[in-house]
Amino acid sequence: MDFDLTKDQQDIKKAAREFAEGEFPELARECDQEEKYPRDLVKKAAELGFIGINLPEEYGGSGFGYLERCLITEEFWRVDPGLGSVLSSATFGADMIHLYGTEEQKRKYLVPLTKGNAVMGSAITEPNAGSDVSAIITSAKKDGGDWVINGNKIFITNGNVAGYFTVICLTNPEHSSRHRRHSVILVERDRKGFESTKLHHKLGIRASDTAELYFKDVRVPLGNLIGEEGNGFYQFMEFFNRTRIHVGAQGVGIAQGAMERAIKHAKKREQFGKPLSSFQATQFKIAEMATRIQAARNLVYEAACKADKGKPDHKLTAMAKWYAGETAVRVADEALQIHGGYGFMGEYDIERFYRDSKIIEIYEGTKEIEKIIISRAILKETLG
Ligand SMILES: Cc1cc2nc3c(=O)[nH]c(=O)nc-3n(C[C@H](O)[C@H](O)[C@H](O)COP(=O)(O)OP(=O)(O)OC[C@H]3O[C@@H](n4cnc5c(N)ncnc54)[C@H](O)[C@@H]3O)c2cc1C
Repeated sequence: MDFDLTKDQQDIKKAAREFAEGEFPELARECDQEEKYPRDLVKKAAELGFIGINLPEEYGGSGFGYLERCLITEEFWRVDPGLGSVLSSATFGADMIHLYGTEEQKRKYLVPLTKGNAVMGSAITEPNAGSDVSAIITSAKKDGGDWVINGNKIFITNGNVAGYFTVICLTNPEHSSRHRRHSVILVERDRKGFESTKLHHKLGIRASDTAELYFKDVRVPLGNLIGEEGNGFYQFMEFFNRTRIHVGAQGVGIAQGAMERAIKHAKKREQFGKPLSSFQATQFKIAEMATRIQAARNLVYEAACKADKGKPDHKLTAMAKWYAGETAVRVADEALQIHGGYGFMGEYDIERFYRDSKIIEIYEGTKEIEKIIISRAILKETLG
């Protein structure tokens, strides 16, 4: 097994680091405090090829894989999770179109993303259907040549800024299997009857836009179906098998950024006549942080490599997402602790990292749901 990055991968990582270090620091605090979505940053990142890196070149992507995308995500989140989140989520839903869309849909909806002319979203969660995706009740009924959609979705990333969404709707409520009742339908923002409202006062990733969506007799052509009718649940599970790897990379990035800030502080800050870094208690914290980060990174990279070979491994993806999320939360906590009272104050980045880290344990499958996936796979593999 070769653990070294190729020259191309090293270059991508370096370019992403330089971009983030150059563009993020000043913007990060402003966007966090003002809950401001930085549209221009998305355009700039797209122009440099950072958006849609794992999409094929014929749709404007860079034709690289999930691993390369993870390298970029990690570097962006290391500098600022809020802005990292804006850039990582700009194409949230593109994998669904890439995996299941028709050629026409790919051209129509992927190209604007990679050019930075549009961002998209994926609308799954509803007020009464979060972890239990099969409980979704937003309905889509056929009427002539259209789907007519009614319902609402909550906590939708890019809800106020996306040009279009992949929306999972109840289309076959009578099917005997709860997992064969839903379909994925693409809904453009400018359809009559569609509305979004911004959700304010999030704990973290406040640069990222989050909204509630409302569909009132929204009509879209039958041709906006993505994939197969009745296959929406399984399509989203396949989608998450891939996108959760990136969420793992987000966790690794947060943890790495938090640890680096803690080390810098520990070397500079003196108490009892010595730098904090000279105390064994601090040294052990650093050793634990670094080891957890390395373990999380290895899980994420292995999961990404499997996906790049066309064989995403849902157990490994769930392990990577859960463990990287826990690592982000723990490391941000310890890194803030090393900052003492200064860490509690808004003028230090670590306060933001601490708030931002929690989301990794919640979205795209909570840590409990990841553990259910892991344990189910292991119990199934184990005979007797
Ligand atoms: C900032 C943000 C952005 C988001 N972006 C999107 C988006 O773009 N698109 C989208 O569709 N959704 C999005 N979400 C929603 C997110 O995916 C859900 O919040 C998440 O899946 C959990 O669903 P829930 O909030 O309804 O919690 P619930 O499902 O109600 O879960 C509450 C708690 O119960 C636990 N639990 C539930 N079921 C079980 C079980 N069977 N066994 C053990 N424990 C269980 C959960 O793990 C959790 O701890 C976003 C959320 C946030 C906060």
